[in-house]
Amino acid sequence: MTLGVIVSLVLIGLGFPEADPIAGIVVGLVVARTGFMIIRESTETLVDRSYSDIAAIEKIVSGVEGVDGCHETRTRGAGNNVFVDIHVVVDPALSVEEAHLIADRVEEAIKKDLPEVVDVVVHIEPGEKTPCGPGK
Ligand SMILES: [Zn+2]
Repeated sequence: MTLGVIVSLVLIGLGFPEADPIAGIVVGLVVARTGFMIIRESTETLVDRSYSDIAAIEKIVSGVEGVDGCHETRTRGAGNNVFVDIHVVVDPALSVEEAHLIADRVEEAIKKDLPEVVDVVVHIEPGEKTPCGPGK
């Protein structure tokens, strides 16, 4: 913006009075383009791009040894920066150590199959065997 104003002032000074409207148009286009890019970027992030088939993630997780169910799967981000948040149900009789191991496996399995996922937060829950999907 400032640069456009300076350029037009210089051109007017050099004897091109028509430079001002032209610079105005150029500045307007740059501003519009920047605005468009900002809007596009923020909507991509906000919309959560239900990207990634939550279903695809849940399918991977269902196949992990020790997982008795999963729900509240959420994703954030876009492109090559997807964050996953998931509740994983495990046998209540497991030790913390065993449950943690399952959480690690879940994280690794998702990241391995979906390289765009950069981080996985696993919330471990004791509970009964239930299929993965939307739920409590
Ligand atoms: Zn839960």
